[in-house]
Amino acid sequence: MPTTTERLQRDEVWYCLDCDHFCLGDGGEYYMVHDAIWYRVTYGQECEGMLCIGCLEGRLGRGLMAADFTDCPLNHEKRERGSARLRDRLNRSTWKRQAEVSS
Ligand SMILES: [Zn+2]
Repeated sequence: MPTTTERLQRDEVWYCLDCDHFCLGDGGEYYMVHDAIWYRVTYGQECEGMLCIGCLEGRLGRGLMAADFTDCPLNHEKRERGSARLRDRLNRSTWKRQAEVSS
């Protein structure tokens, strides 16, 4: 697996660590979750980078909901301009089990 520095040099930090989905831009999945969530899903692994919604939920074992995201301008912007599933999660008041999560 490439190091963080190697990933930065290749601009790879903008791609999902697990599936290589490009996370920047309109319709992208660039967002901030609370540190507790991020540490839980990256514990003992490479944590500099991004995870798309589907891969983060896969690691977490449940769907994301609004309370999982930090109260930052980026997330407010994504309520309007994120991918369909990111907008869905940012507006969701309860989480779903992984098996119930739609893509
Ligand atoms: Zn992914």
